[in-house]
Amino acid sequence: MTDANTATTLCWHCSEPYPIGDESCPACNATNGNVNPEQAQAEAKGAGNVDHEWKFQDDSFDHAFGTERVHYFACAHCEATRPVEAGDFDDNWPED
Ligand SMILES: [Zn+2]
Ligand SMILES: [Zn+2]
Repeated sequence: MTDANTATTLCWHCSEPYPIGDESCPACNATNGNVNPEQAQAEAKGAGNVDHEWKFQDDSFDHAFGTERVHYFACAHCEATRPVEAGDFDDNWPED
């Protein structure tokens, strides 16, 4: 018996365990860093087809002439960011 087929790795992105030989995480699509470290590294910066866990960021700040609004989304697991897009808040924007 060998356990080579059942060895698992933890996803670098979402921490989900999956077979170490798989090319990507079944939960979030992140490339397996054991199989393709370069692709995994690129994905950590926002490339590829990863299902990022977007968290709304509000870095708005006040200055002498008013308020600078700085809104964007950043992934909870990696360095990826993306701008706010029309429709992002259609479902959960607080209603008046
Ligand atoms: Zn994952
Ligand atoms: Zn991410």
